[in-house]
Amino acid sequence: MSDRTIAAIATPLGEGGISVIRISGEDAITVAQKCFFAFSGEKLSDLKGYQAAYGKITDNLGNTLDDAVALVFRAPKSYTGENTVEISCHGGTVVARQILRRVLECGATLATGGEFTKRAFLNGKLDLTKAESVMGLISARSDAAAKISRGAREGRISRDTQDILNKLLETAASLAAFADYPDEDIPNLTQENFAELLNECTCKCEKLISTYDTGRIIREGINCAIVGKPNVGKSTLMNLLCGSDRSIVTDIAGTTRDIVETTINIGDVILNLADTAGIHETDDTVEKFGVTRAKEKIDNAELLLAVFDNSVPLDNDDKELIRSISNKKCIVILNKTDLSPAFDKEDLGDFDIIEISAKSGIGYKELTKAINHICKTDMLSPDDTVLINERQRDCVCRALGAVHAASEALLCGMTLDAVGVCVDDAIASLLELTGKRVTNEVCDEIFKRFCVGK
Ligand code: GDP
Repeated sequence: MSDRTIAAIATPLGEGGISVIRISGEDAITVAQKCFFAFSGEKLSDLKGYQAAYGKITDNLGNTLDDAVALVFRAPKSYTGENTVEISCHGGTVVARQILRRVLECGATLATGGEFTKRAFLNGKLDLTKAESVMGLISARSDAAAKISRGAREGRISRDTQDILNKLLETAASLAAFADYPDEDIPNLTQENFAELLNECTCKCEKLISTYDTGRIIREGINCAIVGKPNVGKSTLMNLLCGSDRSIVTDIAGTTRDIVETTINIGDVILNLADTAGIHETDDTVEKFGVTRAKEKIDNAELLLAVFDNSVPLDNDDKELIRSISNKKCIVILNKTDLSPAFDKEDLGDFDIIEISAKSGIGYKELTKAINHICKTDMLSPDDTVLINERQRDCVCRALGAVHAASEALLCGMTLDAVGVCVDDAIASLLELTGKRVTNEVCDEIFKRFCVGK
């Protein structure tokens, strides 16, 4: 482990009640003691772990920079596992920066992004999935996203991964015994048992992978476009979903000529929502441009809200839209149901139709339910383990591929050595997931995405 003592401002820069400057490393207490003086006369080096002192921070000439509380943690009982001092001073950018500068003068070096958490990982305080959950927790944009990261922080991913690893290690040990003593009649060491163990691993890996997409929608959101011909009520719907006048609403067709975008929470789903120009035949150059951009949006969107106007007969633009959404993840919305119907809703095809009046808000609840249902967030149970990033998913997918290969090798009657190689590959992928076997490059890549001070 590095012998550098590092320091950084751990709180966001801006006006606030308190700012915290964190110092970690073997010399953290000695460094802090050079600029922090307790009003009681106590020295920080005399404090036990988890003890705090109230005093002042001074510059190199002895001038007071601020009153502060210094909280001492002694290795290994700290976030990083190292000696740590957290200085809480008055909030704001200037004071916190002045104190940080002073701490650096006293011997600390500026921490790089994620260095505190990286040290916690390297000192065995948390595994990689728990370290990654810290970033997820900090960046969570909804209760559901925070819940997923909290689950990972509490060790759900580690626990489920260890479950699979135990089975794989058992399989690897049995395979080795089987290969070494082929003539011995060792109980439980049968092809059927191997197959069963591998099958259990397959199911567990698949379960882990299955929650990833839903988790991604909860954490990062889903790109969603509101589409439909002009005047069906797309902008009114956008405003209803946003709870504010985000798009301009008029009864003049073609008012929304370009894409209006916003991000909103609908239940557990984050919608990266775009209100598009109405898709229709037009000779107007500006409108044409908007229509082209709307078509691109449809192609790139992961979810479409296709809006139809209940009060006017379906026309060719509507029929073209029905055709273009048939193989897309889509919710078909029949708007203006406060007005008399001008067509039979069966004409919209086999879609499940959500009937609303965007103007009055009727059907809003059903629509939010439908959005959460199509994104499967309503299927996620509070106890489900959710992988929280692409790296984790990749590790489990590789483990699953290797388990499949082992099962196939067993079925095809290949040598047990060959089966064992595949099982070892699966074990290696899962050890990479938890960080027990990870290269420095991967480790650096993960932590550099963290903010400084975390
Ligand atoms: P867009 O062109 O598809 O974005 O349509 P707008 O949202 O601009 O709406 C066009 C017109 O339909 C406006 O006059 C809206 O007030 C009206 N409108 C939108 N939704 C409803 C609704 O649910 N009921 C009724 N009666 N009028 C609506």
